[in-house]
Amino acid sequence: MLSVLAVACSQGDPIEKRIDDLLAQMTLEEKIGQLNQVTAYATEGMCNEAAAGTIGSILNLVDPVEINKIQRAAVEESRLGIPLVFARDVIHGFHTIFPIPLGQAASFDPALVEEGARFAANEAVASGVRWTFSPMVDISRDSRWGRIAESFGEDPYLTGELAVAMLRGYQENEKPLAACAKHFVGYGASEGGLDYAPIHITERELRNYYLPPFEALLKAGCMTLMPSFNDNDGIPNAGNKFLLGDVLRGEWGWDGCIVSDWGSVGGMIAHGFAADAKEASKRALTAGTDVDMMSYAYINNLKGLVESGELKESVIDESVRNILRLKFRLGLFENPYVEEENYQAAFYTPEALESARKAAVESAVLLKNDNKTLPLKAAKGERVLIAGPMADAPHDQMGTWVFDGQKEHTVTPLKAMKELYGDKVRFGYSDILTYSREECASLELAAFTAQAATYDAVVLFLGEEAILSGEAHTLVNLDLQGSQSALLKAARRSGTPVIAVVMAGRALSVGKDLENMDALIWSFHPGTMGGPALSQLIFGNEVPSGKLPITFPVAAGQEPIYYNAHFPERPASGSEVLLADIPLEAGQTSLGCTAYWLDAGFGPLYPFGYGLSYTTFEYSAPTTDKESYAKDDTIQVSFTLTNKGAVEATEVVQIYVRDVAGSTSRPQKELKAFERVTLKAGESRQVTISLPVERMAFWNLDMEKVVEPGEFYLWASGNSASGEKISFWVK
Ligand code: BGC
Repeated sequence: MLSVLAVACSQGDPIEKRIDDLLAQMTLEEKIGQLNQVTAYATEGMCNEAAAGTIGSILNLVDPVEINKIQRAAVEESRLGIPLVFARDVIHGFHTIFPIPLGQAASFDPALVEEGARFAANEAVASGVRWTFSPMVDISRDSRWGRIAESFGEDPYLTGELAVAMLRGYQENEKPLAACAKHFVGYGASEGGLDYAPIHITERELRNYYLPPFEALLKAGCMTLMPSFNDNDGIPNAGNKFLLGDVLRGEWGWDGCIVSDWGSVGGMIAHGFAADAKEASKRALTAGTDVDMMSYAYINNLKGLVESGELKESVIDESVRNILRLKFRLGLFENPYVEEENYQAAFYTPEALESARKAAVESAVLLKNDNKTLPLKAAKGERVLIAGPMADAPHDQMGTWVFDGQKEHTVTPLKAMKELYGDKVRFGYSDILTYSREECASLELAAFTAQAATYDAVVLFLGEEAILSGEAHTLVNLDLQGSQSALLKAARRSGTPVIAVVMAGRALSVGKDLENMDALIWSFHPGTMGGPALSQLIFGNEVPSGKLPITFPVAAGQEPIYYNAHFPERPASGSEVLLADIPLEAGQTSLGCTAYWLDAGFGPLYPFGYGLSYTTFEYSAPTTDKESYAKDDTIQVSFTLTNKGAVEATEVVQIYVRDVAGSTSRPQKELKAFERVTLKAGESRQVTISLPVERMAFWNLDMEKVVEPGEFYLWASGNSASGEKISFWVK
């Protein structure tokens, strides 16, 4: 169903007129060709298909000469001259690799995310790529799921803000790179964190937590969308009429193009949702999946379906409109070709590298810093031992979904630290572990302890190889792999201060390792410029400001664990008996009946929003400008923020709200606003944040999106687990 809004927008639009003209001239075969997306293969074959009009878009081709050759066949040799669009997964940079999206989320900095996306778009568009399958806005609450690396984490508001910023970076350029909101929807909630597995999310939960970032993206003009692989309540998303039709086209009035995920039209057969590719094609297309990526199901079956009368050609026409609209919006009809000369000049520019460095700085989260171990002093003669599998791993520090970034351009911490202070500091390096899964013998560990004892500090770069996170890379054990924990112990035994830096695509359960380190920086996978960023953080040339975009578990068994959960009926008091202290043959009810983990305690290792600095920030109790508000008011929240330390630093201030009682249960807390505030050493500033009351709206018992009157609690804080509570009312 097309919405009134979409129809109204389309009328009189010159693009719609051109689409009508073209559609009137197209044969059924040419229409179906537009809906067929293939991955790059032999050039000659692609040229033939382009000339015959049997493909509409190609993914995974990044060579301008090849691209132009095939485009020429489409534009100059096909009957109607409809250009192709070339696509690539540009997920966190193209050649210059930025931190993984989960890392970028830790920056809480939309402007920086936008800037990074724009550099990525510049590089990709220079190569002839005009469509990326990003941003990924799957709400991700479970670090077992490898694709959490590609997400902005667990919070719908943060995800929406950063995704829209990324969208602007991709699309708001002279030559836009079409963005793709993916994966629609709920993919991150797969059972057991197992990739591609089913989900069970009710409509209310979808609407309250999973759909909002998609709605924000589509309403901001995102040109395309990709349904996810999973089924929800027995319906694979590529065949979900309610979501793709009623919600997205109907309620939101969106007129972009929907591309299936790789092979997921055919995937409906695996789900048991279609007996064969013919049935799958019919179900996917009628649900609203316009383009078939790599199933060859549409190209092989749609014609037969129309001829047998099982499918109306008008359904195909709607989808053809959507892909043609994308091509018109990208300006491909006017400007189908890419410059072949010197396109590499767009890669790794000093500006892009600087932006990637800054993003890596802001993505790093300081989780522990006992006795102000960090920053290290760069004093003459200071001895620093560097070790660990990620110290010099140019490929792995780029993280998942990197097809085009070259490791030769990556600057590792080992290299960067020497470049930064090699003239003063005496750096040593041990290659005791060279990759994250490597095991080493106790003799080697003992030798490492002896070596470490001769240094003033040991910096261990730990984490996981890029291949351990991302698509299809699910884990059940979130401990550090290989002998990394043993290496920390060995370092600790030396008596030398131990600094751990973890590069990973997810949260890891490092709780038991904490006693073996004095300081811990979580840098996710920081990308091309991770080395300089981390070196500058370690030596205090930069001050950490990142905050966790996901809750860190004590143990993998707590997953999914997230701060904005609903309350259990009996929350833990925090004084319950833990496993080791349970008396023998204790009576059934002797421990009390509350919600906690006997073997992991009461909460997470680190809460959402958490992150330290080289200073401390003090918040005064927040105040609101009134006690009670109307639904269309904007609340002004004010508080004084003080930098209590000796360095200038940035704090990500966070505003959390709880709707005390609703017509359905409400989350414990929800992030409603955030802002990066930079204060000089010792500076105090009154911070005022505007909070529209409409942000308190949710899908209530009657499945209506409303702000329900009543009392709300509010916190202004540096993380989701602290701050003084105040309340306000909505009438
Ligand atoms: C992934 C998508 C990706 C597509 C194209 C799929 O396997 O799920 O996120 O965009 O491949 O490469």
